[in-house]
Amino acid sequence: MSESHDPTAPGIDAGRIWFDGRLVPQEQAQVSVLTHAMHYGTSVFEGIRAYATDRGPAVFRLRDHSRRLLESARILGMRNDLPSVEEIDDAILATIRANDRASCYVRPLLWYGAESLGVNPGRNRVHFMVATWSWGTYLGDEAVAKGARLITSSWRRSPADVMPTKAKAGGNYVNSVLANQEARELGYDEALLLDAQGFVAEGSGENLFLVRDGVLYPVAHSVNLRGITRDSVIRLAEADGVTVRESMATRDELYTADEVFMVGTAAEVTPIAEIDRRPIGAGAAGPFAMRMRERYLAAATGEDERFAAWLTFVS
Ligand SMILES: *Cc1c(COP(=O)(O)O)cnc(C)c1O
Repeated sequence: MSESHDPTAPGIDAGRIWFDGRLVPQEQAQVSVLTHAMHYGTSVFEGIRAYATDRGPAVFRLRDHSRRLLESARILGMRNDLPSVEEIDDAILATIRANDRASCYVRPLLWYGAESLGVNPGRNRVHFMVATWSWGTYLGDEAVAKGARLITSSWRRSPADVMPTKAKAGGNYVNSVLANQEARELGYDEALLLDAQGFVAEGSGENLFLVRDGVLYPVAHSVNLRGITRDSVIRLAEADGVTVRESMATRDELYTADEVFMVGTAAEVTPIAEIDRRPIGAGAAGPFAMRMRERYLAAATGEDERFAAWLTFVS
């Protein structure tokens, strides 16, 4: 087998991976090509970050992520062999510890195994893995400094009666992949997804916020993933005395906002400078977004005592 066809060739350095109850070297964490999840997208996952603090690495909102992973599993109807919320927390902490990382991205995954390939996964085992790796700014330092450039996707967010959009599920991500890929191929940083009626939903993996006349408007939509970063930013803004009003948005409301920014565990808080070739506000990273980014990172790195309960220290 030539090297370029080695399916285990690591593009990601995950070191030791939690795999069904054991920590194993990355090259041993392998699955069958007949894995149900690989054929039908029947997996659920989380994206979590651990930040370096002066007391070592701390996982940001660990329990909230572990709980959401189990909620996603419940939405898919996964029943057998599910870890408990405590077991998920412990596996994540053990994996970070085993790799001795100061900070990292954390990817837990639950998926149906290879016991059968019928569409009905009832007989299939649910497997559980946790991988960690180093991951810097998701959209690049330039997108943060200058503000990201977005384009409305030709792909719509799936309606709630088509896909379970509250689940962070592998299958749902075909929609995100198509939208993000299209935006990147057109030269933009990220896609803006609308719903079937044309209302603003979210980015391919980020929730959106608008700022107008000093009021913060988290974009509300029934098909959006309930983001943990979104919740954190709302609480940080409220602690700053900012008025927060969740509301639906149309794309023209984004065009005329003072600022638009997007948030997610991977993207953290990223300002948006341009949408559909129109400058947003001053067409640069907005001051409100940058302040929220600073507040968010201060909370995540343990510099803001008021939000210490969001951190779980690894050791
Ligand atoms: C993960 C995700 C987000 C962001 O959620 P966080 O909990 O903030 O990381 C937003 N939208 C979609 C579609 C996602 O999958």
